Amino acid sequence: MIEDKNQQRTDLSQLGEFGLIDHLAKSFEVTQKSTIKAIGDDAAVLEFDKDRVVVSTDFLVEGVHFDLSYMPLKHLGYKAVIVNLSDIFAMNAEATQITVSIAVSNRFPLEAIEELYAGVQTACKLYNVDLVGGDTTSSTSGLIISVTAIGQVKTGNEVYRSGAKPNDLLVVSGDLGGAYLGLQVLEREKEVFKVNPNNQPDLDAYTYIIERQLKPEARKDIIKLLADLEVKPTAMIDISDGLSSEILHLCKASKVGCDLYENKIPLDPQVISTSEEFNMDSTTIALSGGEDYELLMTISQDDFPKIKANPHLTVIGYITEEASGAHLVTRGDQKIQLTAQGWNSFETN
Ligand code: ADP
Ligand code: MG
Repeated sequence: MIEDKNQQRTDLSQLGEFGLIDHLAKSFEVTQKSTIKAIGDDAAVLEFDKDRVVVSTDFLVEGVHFDLSYMPLKHLGYKAVIVNLSDIFAMNAEATQITVSIAVSNRFPLEAIEELYAGVQTACKLYNVDLVGGDTTSSTSGLIISVTAIGQVKTGNEVYRSGAKPNDLLVVSGDLGGAYLGLQVLEREKEVFKVNPNNQPDLDAYTYIIERQLKPEARKDIIKLLADLEVKPTAMIDISDGLSSEILHLCKASKVGCDLYENKIPLDPQVISTSEEFNMDSTTIALSGGEDYELLMTISQDDFPKIKANPHLTVIGYITEEASGAHLVTRGDQKIQLTAQGWNSFETN
């Protein structure tokens, strides 16, 4: 997993920027009818009838957002797309196109960039989005990848962070904390590997959480599920930084408070067992660990019967008046104020 098994090393300078773009672009097909012109001109051309268009961009910087010693390039390419699609789905929109921009140092051979784009391509196929452009430049040190995602939503169906109302239910998809704990396991194995490179780690007990870290998915299925159930959330946000920080964003944008119930937070059994092993509190991990890419939404109480029996959606609390503040109600029935301890790339420590 850690070693680059590619024997061949083709220097990027052999192809040049345009050769590289042509080489990467040729394996991508266009499938969306809104894509009129993809890669190959000064700009892509898109056409979206009467729908609204949503756009979102993210950076992934080596050493800040990823570490190539345990993140294979293919996974990185995949994840770079996923994190952006997640933002599109959080608007209740359908993702249609992406652009991918990369800055690479000459320590990366062509084969490495091919790996990265193999991951991009897998995500494009699985989520049915077209790669329609990007930019390519050199970097003096690490790898930087920036993805822009474009999507469409029928006018009026878009969901903002700002629509939550008192008494709405606070609902989350999937389960939380896995991606953060997966990273803890990978970091531990990296340290073990440094001491004893012959050690073959047995990671069977951690497959789910490692996959949550290395190969996250964006919840396209939840957007479809909500449409099928005829539920339009009143507000929605994707969980990239940790539950508490996202709840606070949502409450602030909606000018409301909330009560979040600790005993309702959905946790996978592997998250519970691994947090015990690491002597960490699983609630803290769910609240502050990042990168789960689940969707946090509020829905009107009237819609409760429609989501009640659904295994993909969990009611974790409800919205209150702004003056009440945002609180966690603990298992011991204590009310504590929610604070944002989400992952912050500007933190020095
Ligand atoms: P310009 O000089 O107009 O910026 P480029 O030579 O950078 O043009 O790009 C040519 C075409 O290749 C454009 O369609 C651009 O969007 C696309 N492109 C450039 N870099 C990438 C990349 N890393 N991934 C995908 N498409 C790219
Ligand atoms: Mg360019």
